[in-house]
Parts: sequence; structure tokens; C-alpha cells
Amino acid sequence: MTMLTKSIIANPALAAEGKLKIDWVEAHMPVLNRIRATFEKEQPFKGLRVAISLHLEAKTAYLAKVVQAGGAEVVITGSNPLSTQDDVCAALVQDGITVFAKYNPEPKEYKDLMIKTLETRPDLIIDDGGDLVTILHAERQDLLSQVRGGAEETTTGILRLKSLERDGKLQFPMVAVNDAYCKHLFDNRYGTGQSVFDGINRTTNLVVAGKTVVVNGYGWCGKGVAMRAKGLGANVVVTEIDAIKAVEAYMDGFAVMPMAEAAKVGDYFVTVTGNKDVIRGVHIENMKDGAILSNAGHFDVEVNIPELEALSVSRRTVRKNIEEFRLKDGRKIYLLAEGRLVNLAAGDGHPAEIMDMTFALQAMALKYVNENYEKIGKQVVNVPYETDEQVARYKLEALGTSIDTLTDEQKAYLDSWAEH
Ligand code: NAD
Ligand code: SAH
Repeated sequence: MTMLTKSIIANPALAAEGKLKIDWVEAHMPVLNRIRATFEKEQPFKGLRVAISLHLEAKTAYLAKVVQAGGAEVVITGSNPLSTQDDVCAALVQDGITVFAKYNPEPKEYKDLMIKTLETRPDLIIDDGGDLVTILHAERQDLLSQVRGGAEETTTGILRLKSLERDGKLQFPMVAVNDAYCKHLFDNRYGTGQSVFDGINRTTNLVVAGKTVVVNGYGWCGKGVAMRAKGLGANVVVTEIDAIKAVEAYMDGFAVMPMAEAAKVGDYFVTVTGNKDVIRGVHIENMKDGAILSNAGHFDVEVNIPELEALSVSRRTVRKNIEEFRLKDGRKIYLLAEGRLVNLAAGDGHPAEIMDMTFALQAMALKYVNENYEKIGKQVVNVPYETDEQVARYKLEALGTSIDTLTDEQKAYLDSWAEH
């Protein structure tokens, strides 16, 4: 392996605060703790370098430490300019992890830090949204050859990988962690549901009960956001482009309507589609004074910010992570966290007990791809079902509960076409 260059972080003096944050989450991640114990014994990544791009806060930091405990040399960067926490970065450097990340760098520096991470020539990667993979395939193919494979965290990243695979351009295997049950059933749904309101509430400090929350997109994340909005006492409206999901939202008890209608009634808007231009000028023109716009989908393009700006006579920051856009007729529209993921850019992301399962899957997926990369070849594959189930079993054990097993008679009954 080539020698690593020094970390690039904002402030090493913050390490003690970062360490406290990491210690707290470690105590709430029992599944990952079990994996760490096996990794310490088995050293699955001995002699390998692992590059990670994830929201660089405490839970991610703990995953990095678990991969390191498995024998890897770990290099880490952020996956969103606003979700990196400088104290956590400082603590990781003290733990011997190479960090190329800081909170809110300029766009060019943000990308340079990712490239620096890849220039360490990792053997394995963990990506969130496909940025590392895209740089490797589109701009820096010179850094590709030694990459054995990797694991992808999120829905949008997998869409991008599948498009690369369809074009016959994917150069190494990637495991689709998001598609594992123990990921999207809990992380996308309960994690996003809770952390979106954590982000919105701590940022605005306004009431949700009695207001109308418009949820754009009723996928795994949207279901969670709608469920939690209802729990907080809001009237919930869902917009969709998929007829089946729209019927599901209706049956779950939510009002369903096109965005042109929803725009007029919403107090809060949360986009969670992975798409672009979901809220645009034609919608904003009809919004109520004081409407609050936020995004929890992958990129900052779900709210069309240039169109919002074009409709406005002024734009100013009125509170941390809240920008006020004053429209020509005096109405004010608020945008949270620059239209970036509100739960991560204006909060700490999903809770530790959720990321426990997601990151247990990440750790196991990395081990799986390392052991099987030649056999898998250049394709996107799922996390093996046994691994998914193992994570659920560890979680049940951590919860102090257990489940039933089939009797031999039950097995025979379920397997038989005759005896019913
Ligand atoms: P999903 O595919 O399950 O759901 C997306 C839904 O949006 C689909 O039902 C689709 O029909 C709908 N949609 C698409 N375009 C639309 C439009 N113009 N208007 C209304 N609905 C539209 O995906 P998911 O797992 O729910 O993820 C959604 C996004 O959130 C992705 O970008 C994903 O990467 C991201 N994500 C964010 C977090 C987070 O922490 N904030 C967590 C997980 C995933
Ligand atoms: N690169 C994208 C990242 C997409 S984020 C961007 O531009 O922002 C979506 C992913 O964030 C989800 O799949 C979820 O698993 C992850 N996530 C949510 N909370 C997190 C947390 N506390 N720590 C690390 N990752 C988190």
C-alpha cells in the first residue's frame, strides 16, 4: 500500500467533544458491537485500505472504527457538505483514521476532498449516493484498477449504479445495501420519519399539530415522514406520480392530490422522491405566506431553488438553517438547510439504534464483497438474505426478545401441496 497523506479537517482541538458523541452512539449500537467482536478476531480486512463516503457524524464514525477493528486502514470523507461534524472528524483522526472532510466547504473543496480520499487507492469502498463510484468511473479511471468492490448505502446511489451497470460500464461489484430489508424497512421509513421532524423541529421551533404537512413521494422514506407527521397531529397530504403508491397513501388514511392543489394548502412541505423539480415556480406562486419548504431526498434539486429565487425580491438567512425568500407580493417562503437533506444538514440524521442495523449490513456487505469480488464480477448485487436475517436476529437478541421456530409438522404442512 502507498503511504497515506495527512488528514484534512477543520479543527483537531474538537476531538474530546467528538469522542463523547462517538462513545454515546457506540453504547446504542449493539448489533454493530457484535460484528466488531468477530472482526477483531477474524481480521477480514487485514492489509486492505477502505475508503468511506458517508454522512460524517458519530454513527458513521463508529462504523469506520469497526472496519478499522477488522484490520483495515480507513480513509473517510463526507457525503454532503452540511452533514459533516468537525468534532467527530477530529476524534477519528486521534483514533488513527485518515479524514478528508470539514463542515460546509466550498463546492470545489468538497469534491477535492473526495478525490483525495480516492487518491489513497482504496481496495474497498463504501459509498452513499454514488459520488465515489461516479468520480472513479467518469473522471479518475486511473484510480480504478485496485478497487475490488464496495457497498452502496442509499436508494439514489443504487439507481445510479444500475444505470452504470446497464450501460456496461461498471468496473467492479457493488452491494446494494439499501435493498436489504433491515436497511430500507427501518432506516428509510422509521429513521427518516423521526429524523426529518427532529431536523425541522429543532430548526424552526414551531408547532406541527394542526398544520398541514405535504409529503412529496410515498416511497419508503415518504411513508415514514407521513406516519410521523400524523403522530405529531398534522393533517397530512401526499403527492405521488405512481398510482399504486397513491392508493396506498389513501388507504393509509392520507389525503392524496396533485402538487398544484397541495401547494395551496401546505404549511410544511417535505420532498422525499429522489427526483428533481418536485416543488417548482408554478407551485411556489400559489403557496401560503409562511410556507416552510424542506427536502429529505438525496440531492438539493427536489426544490427548484433557482425558480424560488427568480420569484423573490429578497433572500436572507433569518435563523440557522432557515432562509427567507420574500415574494413580490410580500409573502414569505422559508427554505430549510439550503434544500439539502433536512434531517442530516439540520440534525444528526437517523438515530443510533436505526443506523446500528444499516451499518451492521454495511460492515457485513464489505466483508462479503471482499471475499467474493472475483466470483461476483462487475455487477450490482443484493446483500445475501442470510446476512439480512442475521442482522434481524442480532437486533431481536439486543432487544431481549425471541421468536418461534417451526415444528417439524408445521414445516411439512407448509411444504406440502396435498395435506391442507
Ligand atoms: P422510493 O423509491 O421508495 O420512493 C420514492 C417515491 O417518490 C416513489 O414512490 C416515486 O413514485 C415518488 N416520486 C418520484 N417522483 C415524484 C414526483 N415528482 N412527485 C411525487 N412523487 C414522486 O425511495 P426512498 O427509499 O423513499 O428514497 C427517496 C429518496 O430519499 C432517495 O433519494 C434516497 O436516496 C433518499 N434517502 C434519504 C434518507 C435520509 O436520511 N434523508 C434516507 C434514505 C433515503
Ligand atoms: N450524498 C447524498 C447522501 C444521500 S443520504 C447527499 O447529497 O446528501 C441518504 C442516506 O443517509 C440514507 O440512505 C441513510 O442511510 C443515511 N443516513 C441517515 N442518517 C444517517 C446518519 N445518522 N449517519 C449516517 N448516515 C445516515
